[in-house]
Amino acid sequence: VDHYLQKIESNKHLNAFVEVYADEAKKAALALDEKIATQTAGKLAGLVIGLKDVLSLKGHGLQAGSKILQDYKAPFTATAVQRLIDEDAIVIGRQNCDEFAMGSSNENSSFGPVLNAADNTKVPGGSSGGSAVAVQAGMCHASLGSDTGGSVRQPAAFCGVIGVKPSYGRVSRYGLIAYASSFDCIGPITKSIEDAALILEIMAGADDFDSTVSEKRVPSYSSLLMWKGNARIGYIREAVESTAISLEIRQQTLEMLNRLRAEGHEVTPVEIPLVDALLPTYYILTTAEASSNLSRFDGVRYGYRSSEATDLESMYKKTRTEAFGEEVKRRILLGTFVLSANYYDAYYTKAQRVRRLVREETDKFFESFDFLISPVTPTTAFTIGEKTEDPLQMYLADIFTVQANVVGNPAISIPNGVDDNGMPIGIQVMAPYFGEEKMLAFAHYLS
Ligand code: GLN
Repeated sequence: VDHYLQKIESNKHLNAFVEVYADEAKKAALALDEKIATQTAGKLAGLVIGLKDVLSLKGHGLQAGSKILQDYKAPFTATAVQRLIDEDAIVIGRQNCDEFAMGSSNENSSFGPVLNAADNTKVPGGSSGGSAVAVQAGMCHASLGSDTGGSVRQPAAFCGVIGVKPSYGRVSRYGLIAYASSFDCIGPITKSIEDAALILEIMAGADDFDSTVSEKRVPSYSSLLMWKGNARIGYIREAVESTAISLEIRQQTLEMLNRLRAEGHEVTPVEIPLVDALLPTYYILTTAEASSNLSRFDGVRYGYRSSEATDLESMYKKTRTEAFGEEVKRRILLGTFVLSANYYDAYYTKAQRVRRLVREETDKFFESFDFLISPVTPTTAFTIGEKTEDPLQMYLADIFTVQANVVGNPAISIPNGVDDNGMPIGIQVMAPYFGEEKMLAFAHYLS
């Protein structure tokens, strides 16, 4: 704990943590000494973790990177977090992120941007940017992030660490501040597959507080990391051919595919059906869900309240106007628009139908393949400020990651070399629904 506290201190300029629980973490570490002496320590004894600022820890600040939750404290602990604590993980602090997990660069935070530790002029990715940088710079063993369209995998790729998005319904969302409830997944960011597997198996599984979690048994992922045999791998042809993808990322991806071919795996180029519909579908459905989820932040129940209000309506309006950031407002407006009476069928209903089709096509794909491999991102980490004026350009950063959330499948981002400037490149492995066991074993074999 002292080591990590020092690391957090010496890396303050990266702005990865918004709050550090130094005294509590030290106390927990001391209490652990006794447990270790009496051999009653849990499976995660000694693991020091950080939490993205969307995960509840009872009695601690929780703001989702937003001014609207200023001074708010979590009244209970998220199930996923509690399960780690029950196994003696030590929480060292909460981590910076894009406001309400909306973003790809961590530039939408009321706490200011996070800097990539590999090059301080670059973004760390988002929305779990602080969580990825904290692991990258060794400020904790592991972080918990949330992934609605890539927010664990994309920052992991930009920072050269591992990020896992489990299947939808594998990990309880109880205590996670909702962005888009039918997409949101809690996932670990780590330096090793072993750590990711262990954390996932402890977090996963049925929970009385979240009816969308599956009752399915949780395999002991961490003891099943031996990959055997040949895999049937599909890869997205465009990802290694299109000039929209950076040359170095294409080369690194090709190199990995060639290695796999040479090692006897079946490696086949595939077209992703409906690929052009993925981002629009994602942004229509997630903004719709977000506009509904964020309606509760009205100045009455949580955090910030405008001091300029003159009556009830002006309190709602002024509170939301003053305390939500630009990107959150944009998404609330978009979501309200696609849910409005005159446009509901044209946008929301249509997007739901496309979601179903993408799911069917993805299931069909996994009848003939074990994994879908692609880059995680079309470019490596970009310069801070480069895309802030152009939200559409920013949304394109998610092209490879959103499919897993649209369909609910698990996907992992693992480091796959660096570009000419030393910026990390990631590779993504997507597996069948609830195929975490083989996905992690294969990722272990790859890394
Ligand atoms: N970058 C994506 C977005 O802005 C993904 C966010 C996420 O996964 N929370 O919506």
